[in-house]
Amino acid sequence: MPGYRVVNSDHFQTFTNGYILSNIEFDRQHIWHPYTSAVSPLPCFEVTGADGAEITLASGKNLVDGMSSWWAAIHGYNHPVLNDAAKQQIDKFSHVMFGGLTHDPAVTLCRTLLDMAPDGMNRVFLADSGSVSVEVALKMALQYWACQGRQEKHRIIAPRNGYHGDTFAAMSVCDPVNGMHSLFSGVISKQVFAPAPQTRFDQTFSEDDILPLQELFERHHHELAALIIEPVVQGAGGMRIYHPEYLKRCRQLCDAYDVLLICDEIATGFGRTGKLFGCDHAHISPDIMCVGKALTGGYLTLAATLCSEDVAQGVCQGEPGVFMHGPTYMGNPLACAVANASLSLINEGHWQKQVAGIESQLKASLPKCKALPGVADVRVLGAIGVVEMKQPVNVAILQKHFVEKGIWIRPFGKLVYIMPPYIITESQLERLTTGIYDTLASL
Ligand code: PMP
Repeated sequence: MPGYRVVNSDHFQTFTNGYILSNIEFDRQHIWHPYTSAVSPLPCFEVTGADGAEITLASGKNLVDGMSSWWAAIHGYNHPVLNDAAKQQIDKFSHVMFGGLTHDPAVTLCRTLLDMAPDGMNRVFLADSGSVSVEVALKMALQYWACQGRQEKHRIIAPRNGYHGDTFAAMSVCDPVNGMHSLFSGVISKQVFAPAPQTRFDQTFSEDDILPLQELFERHHHELAALIIEPVVQGAGGMRIYHPEYLKRCRQLCDAYDVLLICDEIATGFGRTGKLFGCDHAHISPDIMCVGKALTGGYLTLAATLCSEDVAQGVCQGEPGVFMHGPTYMGNPLACAVANASLSLINEGHWQKQVAGIESQLKASLPKCKALPGVADVRVLGAIGVVEMKQPVNVAILQKHFVEKGIWIRPFGKLVYIMPPYIITESQLERLTTGIYDTLASL
């Protein structure tokens, strides 16, 4: 065959135009990756295994994982308890529709979630990804007011620098700049945006911080259905860690002005910030809450939208009397079974010591980066460590350095951050923090 070329005999699988492409080459030519150009993609690394806090590449190299696969794999990879839960369930049944049917994995999961959640949560809607759970939360809030004859309450208020997912309603409440609202103007709903919270987690709370939000509530409350916020840590919109008093004031404003509070705990839930939920830092309960990511310990895609009895009653009162949402894979038993195993590991309670240990190690090691000329800020909360640079980083170059050093870190914008699995060892974490320092120092 003209031009026949075996790129790597272990990994060839596909003919394209007469060539056998390696997995990496096929991937580069045909597969979209998150937040990348299809025509000029960032380099990709092929994975052949993952165990504990390490990922193995096709080259045979092991990388210490600093990302928990986008903050989900909190118990580490190839965990015997999670593996066993999946295997046991797959031999019973993998999926049945949730319309008109139910099963123990889903019921057990919802019981556990309601036991763990802040007071007042009483109903669970199982969704298939974080973004979908946010869509559900927003739809619930809008329907709640519409069913009370308050159709004018149809807008959402959100702080800038927020991130809630990539579907259209979720996008409408993400930071307008990061969320590229100008590209989709006319398509996405126009929401109300407040300045992002400014007081840092460990500073004295400044009253000035809440004034702009208060003013927006005064001006817009008649048209506001809900406030949506990520408790204590704004994640993908800037890795900003803010004062719990801000969240407390959000609750008070929502109560005072008849606006529902939606807490998006998809990134912060299940111990990541040092408390079980971000809300716990402020001792508040939302009206609606989203969880996802670590729910299945990073095994399968599953999320949930929890709400109070008042919200559930309000949504289902009058016409149409139902909540019109029902994904095909709603309540997927395999995902629920793994989530049950993940939550049972959380409920054993080791996460508290693990996250506290990660936090103190990060606080002892990361601030050293502040002395580097390109670094603007360093911040740590729970198992989250952030180095903010003065300029946006070159992801491909940084990642090449990191992989050479045997660590897996995926920076974005100006942010080089880690959110490792809770089971990471001290020496693995040291490889991450030393790798960050040495790499940034060498630029
Ligand atoms: N909300 C928050 C706070 C998130 O961090 C994310 C994911 N990064 C989402 C929503 C969207 O979740 P998913 O990617 O599962 O759709």
